[in-house]
Parts: sequence; structure tokens; C-alpha cells
Amino acid sequence: MASGRSGSSSSSSGGGGRDRRGSVCSFCGKTQREAGPMVEGPKDVYICKSCVELCHNIIRQEMRKTSTARAVVGSTPTPKQVKDFLDQYVIGQESAKRTLAVAVHNHYKRLTHRDQGGDDVELDKSNILMVGPTGAGKTLIAKTLARILNVPFAIADATTLTEAGYVGEDVENVLLRLLQGAEYDLELAQRGIIYIDEIDKIGRTTQNVSITRDVSGEGVQQALLKMLEGTFSNVPPQGGRKHPEQQYIQMDTTNILFICGGSFSGIVDIIKRRIGRSVIGFANEAEQHTWSEEATELFKEIIPDDLIEFGMIPELVGRLPIITSLCPLDVGAMVQILTEPKNALVRQYQKFFEFEGCQLEFTKGALQLIAEKAMERRTGARALRGVIEDFMIDAMFDLPERPKSGKWVVTEAIVDRTQQLFATKPKRRRESA
Ligand code: ADP
Repeated sequence: MASGRSGSSSSSSGGGGRDRRGSVCSFCGKTQREAGPMVEGPKDVYICKSCVELCHNIIRQEMRKTSTARAVVGSTPTPKQVKDFLDQYVIGQESAKRTLAVAVHNHYKRLTHRDQGGDDVELDKSNILMVGPTGAGKTLIAKTLARILNVPFAIADATTLTEAGYVGEDVENVLLRLLQGAEYDLELAQRGIIYIDEIDKIGRTTQNVSITRDVSGEGVQQALLKMLEGTFSNVPPQGGRKHPEQQYIQMDTTNILFICGGSFSGIVDIIKRRIGRSVIGFANEAEQHTWSEEATELFKEIIPDDLIEFGMIPELVGRLPIITSLCPLDVGAMVQILTEPKNALVRQYQKFFEFEGCQLEFTKGALQLIAEKAMERRTGARALRGVIEDFMIDAMFDLPERPKSGKWVVTEAIVDRTQQLFATKPKRRRESA
């Protein structure tokens, strides 16, 4: 590109240049008045801001088209590398992490194989079903996976999806979200990961459904099935409901990896019945707070037939060949979640104190109490943030106005809210909590 000055010479040319109205963009033909300042090239060539942006996008897309497919797949980490990465963020859930690490690795290997024209062995796509209680890390695992693979990722909640025509979200909008996540790079989006949460809530037999959507859930399952099987879907680029005049983007779902998750409340009874154990005393097993070790063990025995009996259509279950279970988190795991992951809550609060020149510590007893209080809320690790916020909000409100020094210690009394953090005495820096 030549000198970047705004056009101001006096000659005129056919495709662009200058005429009586001033500079004219050689690419779109707009005048300077319409298109704003222009960059002038040699021989009376001009280009406007929008055309520069357009060229930039075209070149970026072209470069991506040729390189991303290979780059993404070519750099597929090994299952061990995936698991090691997951370990930095997800506490426990060893078997789920291992299963998923192998599954995603194989998925992307399968794509490489296909790209390289390998047709000796037909490798099936292996969508994954994660079964486990709320707040045990299903979404977290899926999100973390997308990060390590550096592919676009979208989350959908199955309960908001409907068969076309009902009030709610069309299945195609999920694909749109993936496309948006890939900045409208179709090639990249077609190799992304979609996580569908609460897949169990669209079972045929489910009771808790809204009256404004497909009540049987079966229509939604059918719509999801098509997506999972691999289909060309018409995605409305603007989102929202389909409209006859709208232009659609055709998206091929064949190589998208689908991970589904659900808590499948009550399935333990189905498994128990199948393997012939008595169900007496298990009436409340579905509820997380009554999950016994036995129930956790049973959960691991889940087979596709149990899911069908639960209300999933057999075809959909057939498209989810990998089933893995997550266990409910105990107090010990909750304490680990508070402190160990790279983005652990305790570390985050400590960082905010650090920004203000202060230090923050939590006693072991305080961490234990936070974990116990979170367990009572029965939403797994999701409850941890709420429990901490309950007693930290006042301190966070005052923190920026306080002296920028001192070490503060969160004790059980503070968690219990019988004492306020800043009403205690700050410890000297070298003293330990
Ligand atoms: P689910 O999808 O199983 O209902 P999430 O993955 O959404 O649960 O978990 C909610 C939050 O709880 C996560 O964002 C994370 O902060 C925390 N969390 C849940 N399980 C774990 C875990 N096993 N390890 C670390 N953090 C977890």
C-alpha cells in the first residue's frame, strides 16, 4: 500500500480516483463524502475505510480456511495432555476426565484421518453423554475442553429448545451461537464443540415441563437427533425465528462434537431395578443431598437401556455412544475447589485484596464451614460463590477505602457472620493465619 494520506489530487479515472465530487473509492465507487477518508495508492487509486475492512476480512477468512483445519487438528493434544489441562481446573471426576480426554482426542484424530483422505477404516463420531448431579462440573469440563482444543464452543440448554413452531429457541440457534463464536468462519464452526445441558429434561416421561413448549419433549429430541447425526442445517444469520425471506447459512453438523449433560434424577431406581437390587428406601435417591455411596456406585453402571427407560428416544441414545458419570462432590472436594483450581474462588478474592495492597487468608475451619454451608444448598459447587459472597460483600464494599496494608484472616466466626472481617484486627504480615 502506498502513502497513507487522504486523497486530494485532481485527476479523474474510470474505476476510482478523483472527479468533481472529490476522491472516489476504486473498489466500491463511493465518494469521499459518502465513505469518509480514503487511502491513496499510486496512479490515482483510492480505497475507503469499509473496503479496507472488507479486504482484511476476506484475507483473514482465506488464510483461516487453508490453515485452521490443519492447525486445529494437527495440534491435537494427546489424551494425557488433555487430562493434565483439565486437572488444573476440574477437581476429582477422574473417570469422566479420562473418558472425555480420549473421546475428544479421537474425534479430532478422526477429522485428520478424513482430511488426509484415509478411507480404509470408517471412524464413527463419538458424541458424549455426561451424567451427574448439578454443580459437579459437567459444563466446566466441556468448557475447559474447548479451551485446550482452541475450537469454537457453544452451550445450549435443552429445556429452552423447542421443535420449530413452539415458543422458545429453535435448535438452529445453537448452531448460530457456534458460528458467532467462530466469528462466522464456517469451516471452523463446523469443527466446534456444542454442549447441551439438561438433556434429561426433554425425556418423554418428564413431568416438569412448561406448557408453552412441546410437552412430550420428543419433538425436541428428534430435532437434536438430526443435528447429532450430521445434517445440513439452515442457520438464520440474524438469529431468532425462521423467516421465509431470510437468507440462511448452510451449516454441516457432521463434524461438530456434541457433548450432552444431565442429572437424570431418578435413574438410579431404574438401574437398581435392572440389576435386581431392592429399591426399598431409595425413594429420594434422586435428590442430591441423599445420594449415598451406593447410589454413586450404581450411577457408574448406567447403560443405554436405562436412558431409554428414563424417556430418551433410542435413536438419540444411539447417537451418544460414550456415556460417563460424574459423582456428587463431598465436603473435601468442595474445599479443594475453593482453593486449588487456577481460578479458585479463594485465589480470586486474594487477588482483589492484593490489588489494594492487602493480604487475605482463610483458616482451614473457615474453608470447611464454607464447604458445609454450600453442601446444604444442594447445587453442588455452584453454591460456593453465593456462600462466600454472603459474608464477603461488606468487606469488598469497604476494601478500596481502607488503608492499603494489613493481612486479614477469614475465620469460622466471619463465615458464620457473627463477626465482620474489618471489625477484626489485621495480622502483621509475617504472622500466619
Ligand atoms: P454442572 O454443569 O455439572 O451442573 P458446572 O460445571 O456448571 O456444573 O459447575 C458450576 C461451577 O461449580 C463451575 O463453574 C465451577 O466453578 C464449580 N465446579 C463444579 N464442579 C467442579 C469441579 N469438579 N472442580 C472444580 N470446580 C467445579
